[in-house]
Amino acid sequence: MARYIFITGGVVSSLGKGLASAALGALLQARGYSVRLRKLDPYLNVDPGTMSPFEHGEVFVTDDGAETDLDLGHYERFTGVSARKTDSISSGRIYSNVLEKERRGDYLGKTIQVVPHVTNEIKDFLRIGEEETDFMLCEIGGTVGDIEGLPFFEAIRQFIHERPRGECILMHLTLLPYLAASGELKTKPTQHSVKELQSIGLAPDVLVCRSEHPIPEREREKIALFCNVRADAVIPAYDLKTIYEAPLAYHRAGLDQAVLNAFGIEPAPKPNLTRWEDVMDRITNPEGEVRVAVVGKYTQLEDAYKSIAEALTHGGMANRVKVRAEWIDSEIFEKEDPAPHLERFQAILVPGGFGERGTEGKIKAARYAREKQIPYLGICLGMQMAVIEAARNLAGLSDAGSEEFDHEAGAKRFTPVVYLLKEWVQGNHVVARKLGDDKGGTMRLGAYDAALVPGSKVAEVYGTTRIEERHRHRYEVDTQFKDKLESCGLVFSGMSPDGRLPEIVEVKGHPWYIGVQFHPELKSKPFEPHPLFADFVRAARDVSRLV
Ligand code: GLN
Repeated sequence: MARYIFITGGVVSSLGKGLASAALGALLQARGYSVRLRKLDPYLNVDPGTMSPFEHGEVFVTDDGAETDLDLGHYERFTGVSARKTDSISSGRIYSNVLEKERRGDYLGKTIQVVPHVTNEIKDFLRIGEEETDFMLCEIGGTVGDIEGLPFFEAIRQFIHERPRGECILMHLTLLPYLAASGELKTKPTQHSVKELQSIGLAPDVLVCRSEHPIPEREREKIALFCNVRADAVIPAYDLKTIYEAPLAYHRAGLDQAVLNAFGIEPAPKPNLTRWEDVMDRITNPEGEVRVAVVGKYTQLEDAYKSIAEALTHGGMANRVKVRAEWIDSEIFEKEDPAPHLERFQAILVPGGFGERGTEGKIKAARYAREKQIPYLGICLGMQMAVIEAARNLAGLSDAGSEEFDHEAGAKRFTPVVYLLKEWVQGNHVVARKLGDDKGGTMRLGAYDAALVPGSKVAEVYGTTRIEERHRHRYEVDTQFKDKLESCGLVFSGMSPDGRLPEIVEVKGHPWYIGVQFHPELKSKPFEPHPLFADFVRAARDVSRLV
């Protein structure tokens, strides 16, 4: 049976709970334990799939096709453990399960209440797969005191109470604000936030205190005394230069030791931190720099393309260069020539996206990269843009476009080289969809295989001809145009194993021009950079050698 670590936050949001959880997971692995990380989100959306990236950052997709919170991306990047559908839950999903059971009559006519019905549903979720792992780390979204979070906190209270002693601990993150006027760190908000936890029957075993200034020993002792934790379980968390420093920084601060102490695990197995030392060495000692333009739509909010930003960093680490990614709004290219904007870059990436806005600018960026022989990586919509660009400018189909934009506009304006797929095969069953289906859950989601053409650029990059990558899209490149496009130099170098769905295109004779229908960024890790990102950055670095 797993030991449980519940991770909560107080005082303010955005304290880096997800990162602390992920780093703790990595440290427990370094000590030889298996871990699984889970996110419990109090909001009422059933999943983040339909939330705007402006609102909630990127949607992270798991192998088994769940659309989850971007924190699951952190978990995977730090632990390498593939997240599953059952690693993320929201109040919306919990309530929807409870209501479904109520309609089915599963509760035998009882009055349905938050306690016990909702809390039981949460506890059932917590227990899933517990026999498979040494430690289950469960992060609760939001901060203690949020109205939506209460059922989760109550469920955790019951859960801890029902388990044998010593099997569950609670780690709480808070902020120590610094008052410049008096030159002091203030502990009162932390005390209040711990009181808030205590008032609902929970007591932290480990306190992680974010602070912009060093925490003096006497403040640490004061926090320990007032918050009823051991002084060595008050862990300072200072700002870091890179998120990948978190495992080593938290280790130095004593986090993993404090957690093992709280469980009474003695002697604690020695950690092997070479993986993270190597990661840090690569990040802190780059031998050069490359500039990559990311031409997309959701450019105001950094979190909207979180995994892409991280995968580029990993690609840099693979080549010991620093990647400077700049986000450019593609709509600019609809009014202005892209050349003066893109000249400064050694590579261009067009990421995924939905809807027509900004797509003409992305098509121009794809054309610029193709014609100027600049490395280009098109991801999902970025691949579709590359195909439309080639159809228009190489194959002479001047009105080539995507059915997605016609559907959105309610008018037929394009020859659809990208069309809405109605039916496809997943594993050994057929999935079908109708136009006008719900927006949530109607995408081709999760891991699918692709067969790569031997001798193609991608086969060389991956070093294999069979890959598995994660998808999140509705529209597909139409194979009707395959022969015509191939005769113009666009190679369909990766297809679904049944040969029906194009997965990868590349431009013949171009130093590096690849479009992929899937999201390689979701599988990249700092200690295992994704081959496409590693080689894309390598190609970009080689361009910089030419100039
Ligand atoms: N909007 C496109 C589709 O649904 C691309 C999706 C994406 O980039 N994730 O097919």
